[in-house]
Amino acid sequence: MYSGKTTELLNFAEIYEIGRKNILLFKPRIDERYSKEHIVTHKLFKVDAIPVNSADGILAHYENFKGKVDGVFVDEVHFFETNICTIVRQITQYGTDVYCAGLDMNYLWEPFETTALLLAMADEVIKKKAVCEICGEYKATLSFKKKSNGNIFDVGGKEKYIAVCKECYSKLQK
Ligand SMILES: [Zn+2]
Repeated sequence: MYSGKTTELLNFAEIYEIGRKNILLFKPRIDERYSKEHIVTHKLFKVDAIPVNSADGILAHYENFKGKVDGVFVDEVHFFETNICTIVRQITQYGTDVYCAGLDMNYLWEPFETTALLLAMADEVIKKKAVCEICGEYKATLSFKKKSNGNIFDVGGKEKYIAVCKECYSKLQK
């Protein structure tokens, strides 16, 4: 959380745009925190994001443009079912690069299964950190949910989750 994952994803997307390559950007429909049409970062670079209900939606859109897409970008991958792995592999086999961004762990300090599987398949992995909301150190790798309710797919911002380091997470649990 708050580690600049989307910005990092868009940095790669921007490289494709500068190279006049064709890209498709997807996000799960569940993530309605920001604009529905765009994935917006703090920078001015904006890309139209296609909201999809499932990974099948990614493949369906991709197949409409098959042969013309150089890069597929997916934000918030942890919200997708694990079948996104098969779809990522298919798109890769068609010769298109795939970039995914998402959380690796839920607020219970457990891996998100979809992200864990994609990590195994990836050629390259970039792990991001955030500033810990409690101690202020740049070593937050976990999300702490202020009011734990067992729902790991609960979308929310700072009103619900804070980024914390492992030490502070353990203290907050007590
Ligand atoms: Zn801390």
